Amino acid sequence: MPKKTEAEALKEKLFYERKHASYVCDEKEIKKADDYCREYMNFLNTGRTEREAAEYIIKAAEKQGFVPFEKNKKYKAGDKVYSDIRGKSVILCTFGKKSLKEGVRILAAHIDSPRLDLKPNPLYEEDDLALFKTHYYGGIKKYQWPTVPLALHGVVFRKDGSCVTVRVGDEPGDPCFVVTDLLPHLDRQQADRPMTKVIKGEELNILVGSRPFGKEKGDNLVKLNILKILNEKYGITEEDFLSAELEAVPVFPAVDLGFDRSMIGSYGHDDRVCAYPSFTAQFAVKKPAYTCLTVLTDKEETGSDGNTGLQSAYLKHFISDLGEPYAIPGRDILRASSCLSADVNAGYDPTFASVYEKKNAAFLNKGIVLTKYTGSGGKGGTNDANAEFVSLVRQAFDKANVVWQTGELGKVDEGGGGTVAKYVANLGAQVVDVGVPVLSMHAPFETVAKSDVYMAFKGFKAFLEF
Ligand code: MN
Ligand code: MN
Repeated sequence: MPKKTEAEALKEKLFYERKHASYVCDEKEIKKADDYCREYMNFLNTGRTEREAAEYIIKAAEKQGFVPFEKNKKYKAGDKVYSDIRGKSVILCTFGKKSLKEGVRILAAHIDSPRLDLKPNPLYEEDDLALFKTHYYGGIKKYQWPTVPLALHGVVFRKDGSCVTVRVGDEPGDPCFVVTDLLPHLDRQQADRPMTKVIKGEELNILVGSRPFGKEKGDNLVKLNILKILNEKYGITEEDFLSAELEAVPVFPAVDLGFDRSMIGSYGHDDRVCAYPSFTAQFAVKKPAYTCLTVLTDKEETGSDGNTGLQSAYLKHFISDLGEPYAIPGRDILRASSCLSADVNAGYDPTFASVYEKKNAAFLNKGIVLTKYTGSGGKGGTNDANAEFVSLVRQAFDKANVVWQTGELGKVDEGGGGTVAKYVANLGAQVVDVGVPVLSMHAPFETVAKSDVYMAFKGFKAFLEF
């Protein structure tokens, strides 16, 4: 190798440069990342909704020896418990060697994703077609959802209070459903609409049938035929939709993306791509110094409101319950605690380069993104992580050879967004956002790089153990 010039040597010493995982990891580690991602893809295909993800996580945790948390019980280092928050959020906890007075380590990711929810009275017939009315959930670009094959997942509570689980559309042989779009030959009026109204909210109607019941002429016979099929299969009537939660999600399973298979295309990466590394990192930590919590939460995509979202008191109360047998107030634990808000950030997309500020954007394959602040309009509505805490996380990542980068959500004043970070920060803990860069975030089919998914696992584990 030719000798470095003085300037080259000095640059190496003084300049900051993002590193591509392929130049940092050896072949063994790249293979490890690919193997890890196969399991992640299985999680993506199984847990399509927050309920299904929560169920998957609880089952996986039980296999790892986690048991339901009991209040007023004293636990010892290495004990593993979980708390099921109404079937839609989960807290996992592994007790550490240190006293709770020294705080806990928290990973917080969300398991809800943008989708189309059925309205409480969804089914109607118009011009011999049966359709479902929907109300979209989370920040979607509405024009992306027509002509995407959809599956229907959720629960229906019948008149007598009994519950039936619905999951139809994504098993081989299942029928699926679709929101229709206008043909280009007749879209002149539609073409003049602004992007947010190319498809309007009330146009997100899902086609579910077209054949009438029987041979008699009459009203609503296509709708009747659908209800007959639903009644035979699920034992439900139209009124039972009133007490149902049914979510339409894209049918297509997670797939390898690219000739080099370096990426994964799937529905729901945001934020299962951080949820999966979070709970698997928690599983990998056996007898940690600090008590470790992983919070897999619902409702992030709609602002974290509601009793399964992180604006509610469920995390605060759980932490208070942890301290109670030792007479340690929850507020003392929280004050000493630290948290990685594990959520995705926008990956730099060369096709839409103008919205990113390249020096502070996150790139695919350059590791997990540490996002100091999100928000908009001059850092409004965000947790802005303290430099003290960023320094600690930096040390934890570097010690474990984690490939990581920093990133902002686009150019200043280009747009904005938020995560659960501020809600955990509002409890008094140290928090910073760390997650995987994503392309086409919130689309029915999002893209991530496999090496970044693996680095999330590695980074989260390093944080819990640091
Ligand atoms: Mn997210
Ligand atoms: Mn999101």
